[in-house]
Amino acid sequence: MIPLKIKKIKEVVNGQSYYIQDENKVIDSICTDSRKITPQSLFIALTGDNFDGHQFVSQAIKDGAILAIVNHKIDDASIPQIVVDDTRQSLGQIATFIREQSQAKIVALTGSSGKTSVKEMTAAILQHCGQTLYTQGNFNNDIGVPLTLFRLTEQDQFAVVELGANHIGEIAYTTNIVKPQSALINNIAEAHIEGFGSLNGVATAKGEIFAGLPQNGIAIINLDSCSDRWFTQLTNKKVWTFSLANSSADFYASNIQHTESTTFTLHTPKGECSILLPLVGLHNVSNAIAASALAISVGANLDQIRNGLTTLKPVKGRLYPIRLNQTQLIWDDSYNANVGSMSAAVKVLAKQPGYRVLVVGDMGELGNEAEKYHRQIGELAYQEKLDCVVSVGKLSQYISQYSGVGYHFNNKQDAVNFLLMLLNQHPSLTMLVKGSRSAKMEELIEKIQIEQ
Ligand code: ATP
Ligand code: MG
Repeated sequence: MIPLKIKKIKEVVNGQSYYIQDENKVIDSICTDSRKITPQSLFIALTGDNFDGHQFVSQAIKDGAILAIVNHKIDDASIPQIVVDDTRQSLGQIATFIREQSQAKIVALTGSSGKTSVKEMTAAILQHCGQTLYTQGNFNNDIGVPLTLFRLTEQDQFAVVELGANHIGEIAYTTNIVKPQSALINNIAEAHIEGFGSLNGVATAKGEIFAGLPQNGIAIINLDSCSDRWFTQLTNKKVWTFSLANSSADFYASNIQHTESTTFTLHTPKGECSILLPLVGLHNVSNAIAASALAISVGANLDQIRNGLTTLKPVKGRLYPIRLNQTQLIWDDSYNANVGSMSAAVKVLAKQPGYRVLVVGDMGELGNEAEKYHRQIGELAYQEKLDCVVSVGKLSQYISQYSGVGYHFNNKQDAVNFLLMLLNQHPSLTMLVKGSRSAKMEELIEKIQIEQ
């Protein structure tokens, strides 16, 4: 973190202070989780649905915090504190101030799927250009984004920030804190549709990211998955486009070849180069193109892109290969699922060798038309000529039903028993396992590994 005096924090959050004896003390970390307090830190008490940080303020001070920001006064002279109207707002105000002190060139990205993948890829490239801070895990909401900026140091030259949205207005809030030089929307799909009402609603919510751009900022849009409204919104801004294979985009790929990794030629306004990407799936090629565009927008060159992208490693739960033996493989894609990512997974599986089995749990948060979306995935599995679809859950039965090659089970153990039988019958077999987070499909993979 960029160190801040208590005096400065008082100014930035504009609250009422109590029991502060030395305003010149320096804060060198900020924490909202009392279990992770470090010496000389600031503790910000947040009130959530399931917890109230105010209950942990005195513990935080005992553990080394030297200041607390709270939304009501705590009558305890041992707690130096600033009382504000809304502690969540203070989080944003301090993050904005820290970002203003930093020299880093900041890029931000959102999208319905692939955000974390594009973020990791962009960071992998930019690390070849200079010290780069990037969002940890999924810290992409109104609390996670400020916590990410708190980690900025004076040495950081670049920052890659992932912005997520569960409701309209969330990205407008976070992008205004981040104020990126370049902002990218990876795609739009029927993810979290319950919060937005329609695909148009999703487009509006994601489009908020461009409101954070300065006058000379660059907006980056996926020609394969975009909304006309963004182009209208951006008439006065520089817009770059990318696409998997559409050569009218500024960035695209050709000559894509898959094995257990992928090679392709990347085309950019700076020239073309060949890329070895140690990941599978056309969607990951698209993600790599997106990351290249973001990195070039803040100065990366083609060598840095090539070197960055080859260092990537598959992440557990995201098309992560688990070899059972020479000819039998499980692709663990159990981390999460929505319509876009489930379609991408079906297409990855269709290109794999041997007997191809899709193992699916429910896709959550799809609103009234959830049944229709599950049917569509079943139809895609049919078109892609998968050999077998195994479903567990409720809505997922429509996937197996419409695939024409489906088996539905009411519980994971019955599905596992069936899959163990398939593994016995088909010496060459590829299985891809996927479902929403709530479906916990990794449990099924663990059972197969134990019982096979
Ligand atoms: P979350 O909203 O959970 O944070 P995310 O947007 O960060 O997700 P990732 O974690 O990168 O996305 O990927 C989630 C899933 O989406 C993966 O399982 C992957 O298979 C799929 N996916 C990744 N990129 C794309 C893409 N460009 N198009 C469609 N599906 C994708
Ligand atoms: Mg993510």
